[in-house]
Amino acid sequence: PQAAAADYLAGLNPEQRLAVETVDGPVLVLAGAGTGKTRVLTTRIAHILATQRAWPSQILAVTFTNKAAREMKERIAHYIGPGVEGMAWLGTFHSICVKILRNHAELVGLKSGFSILDTDDQLRLMKQVIQAEGLDEKRWTARMFASLVDSWKNRGLTPKDIPEGEARAFGNGKGRKLYAEYQDRLSVLNAADFGDLLLHCITLFKTQPDVLRDYQRRFRYMLVDEYQDTNVAQYLWLRLLAQGNSNVCCVGDDDQSIYGWRGAEVDNILRFEHDFPGAVVVRLERNYRSTSHILGAASHLIAHNEGRLGKTLFTDDKDPEAEAVTVASSWDSEEEARAIGEEIEALQSKGHSLNQIAILVRASFQMREFEDRFVTLGLNYRVIGGPRFYERAEIRDAMAYFRCVVQPADDLAFERIVNTPKRGLGEASLKLVHELARASRIPLLEAATQLCRTEELKPKARKALSDLVDSLDRWRAQLVHMKHSELAEIILDESGYTEMWRLDRSAEAPGRLDNLKELIRSMEEFESLPGFLEHIALVMDRDTADAADAVSIMTLHSAKGLEFDTVFLPGWEEGLFPHQRALDESGRAGLEEERRLAYVGITRARKRAKIWFASNRRIHGSWQSSIPSRFLDELPERHVEVVESSTRYGGYSGGGYGGGNAYGVSRFDARDPFQNTYSTPGWQRAQRAREAGSQDHGNRSDMRSSRTRAQGPLTIEG
Ligand code: ATP
Ligand code: MG
Repeated sequence: PQAAAADYLAGLNPEQRLAVETVDGPVLVLAGAGTGKTRVLTTRIAHILATQRAWPSQILAVTFTNKAAREMKERIAHYIGPGVEGMAWLGTFHSICVKILRNHAELVGLKSGFSILDTDDQLRLMKQVIQAEGLDEKRWTARMFASLVDSWKNRGLTPKDIPEGEARAFGNGKGRKLYAEYQDRLSVLNAADFGDLLLHCITLFKTQPDVLRDYQRRFRYMLVDEYQDTNVAQYLWLRLLAQGNSNVCCVGDDDQSIYGWRGAEVDNILRFEHDFPGAVVVRLERNYRSTSHILGAASHLIAHNEGRLGKTLFTDDKDPEAEAVTVASSWDSEEEARAIGEEIEALQSKGHSLNQIAILVRASFQMREFEDRFVTLGLNYRVIGGPRFYERAEIRDAMAYFRCVVQPADDLAFERIVNTPKRGLGEASLKLVHELARASRIPLLEAATQLCRTEELKPKARKALSDLVDSLDRWRAQLVHMKHSELAEIILDESGYTEMWRLDRSAEAPGRLDNLKELIRSMEEFESLPGFLEHIALVMDRDTADAADAVSIMTLHSAKGLEFDTVFLPGWEEGLFPHQRALDESGRAGLEEERRLAYVGITRARKRAKIWFASNRRIHGSWQSSIPSRFLDELPERHVEVVESSTRYGGYSGGGYGGGNAYGVSRFDARDPFQNTYSTPGWQRAQRAREAGSQDHGNRSDMRSSRTRAQGPLTIEG
């Protein structure tokens, strides 16, 4: 094995080598982005296997996403060949826990074939529980309850463990009872929700010492990537297993902790040395990924955070041609998409692979413009870590309403909206509609209209259905004389659809509302509603998912651990990034997490990081001037180049950076971009505007969520 060993160890620096070769006892690798943490884990596994310390099935390796698990498997296969298939315990916390639970389900009150509930099922069940307790479900919504239960489960708390105060705060003091009741019903259904996977596993380990000992013996070596984003439950789980032997290696970077809103505890890193006595702590300081400009910019930015352990990072990259991090502005977000599209085409024509280009956005609604633009350009793209914009549930729902208005015979659309939001139409009523439609060979909507004129439906159902039918008729009539984007907004309001999400307390709800606004905005670019629908049909039809060469579009959250030659970072504006919801939060925690997200974003780039901000974002059809992100001020001049905009409405007119709206108080008329002339650099103006407290987010305030800790992404893989 010595020859092979030389192979995989070759090229590692001494610290990396130490982390790889210290296989016995606890090891913590605490290091900045791109220093080879993931590579250390992979090599360590190869080393353990090559030196025959363990079989593949005796290694527990935890990654943050399934995608990361697949990639790690590929990398290990590269070193050790097909033996990697025996690595049965390489995956996310969730996937590993499911596997354990399947073997011991009956010990936690389940049967082996238990099902895992999706969010919809989970909410339906919670609603039943709330109703059964006789509570007002408008006041105590299932969504509120769901996020509360999630937060308990993230902390490893079963119903009996939750603090009295928290238990009392929900459901007229019945929080604990509701939680217990919900768990009972799950067990009767032989089902678990996502949070249960860990919680049940912990319970299993705590109550069944034999089982725990079994796993402790089995897992000779344990490895965890992205350790900074583990939550309390995951930590407890790991610690239980590590009591057997302490061959645990965790790698992480406190500066990349970006899931605090979901219960992750960066303190787990700080606790490591305490809980694993004798731990070897390895610091990696050499960054192998990025140019010195990129690294310099990212390090300088993150240094503005107070709550950090602090580390040194350097690179040996001495490429004299290395490009500075660029900051460019555009008149608005549409222009931003156009300009970035042009840059990508230019890179492509110089022979760059699209696979090596990524666009990282703060909020998923930002993706829409890029997707539209790329479809127009015929540029392949893929959306990672979530559905493409027009495939999102809320967008499909909204589109279904519009389709019903334009095409009354669109049965699929009608089915989608007939009871969304819930109108109290039971299955029996809907069945009658379907039967009549089939029997008379008429569309569902027509059948519904006819049924409403008979006595066949129960009064409540009839009222609900005829309200919907009447509304659709009314909207169709309005379409003739009203601007379609305005009508679209009316439809979503009057149907109760927007309200449904507004009342929703889940972490995704604010993002969904943003997406709906973005949808309406995108409609304005089209002549008519049918024209818009046709465009969407075309966009949807194009399946670029398997394209060999494609630009990646994703949220900053889902970019963790990845790397690309060129990274575009659009939308660096106050209120968007840092996100308004983080700014609204009291204390620095929210803002610091946003800054870590910026750090994650920049450090994804190997050669080029290109930051953009738009001088204007259109919200509800009216232009809002935006203030450049404070993070721009925090970039070091020495590593940053401010790019003169080449585009027609480029925001640098007047020689300044910011496009001249950084006072944030003016509203520009969309059709007169040339008003946009100031001479003070935008960053400085932004700074002053902030100091003067003159931020004007105008309409944006209604985009805010009433939750305080909700600055997360829309979709999370994991
Ligand atoms: P992140 O914090 O972003 O997850 P990381 O610390 O996990 O980063 P890796 O992804 O493991 O870093 O490594 C970053 C890049 O540097 C990869 O392309 C990796 O192959 C390369 N790399 C790491 N160590 C070395 C080395 N000793 N020699 C050459 N390249 C290296
Ligand atoms: Mg990594």
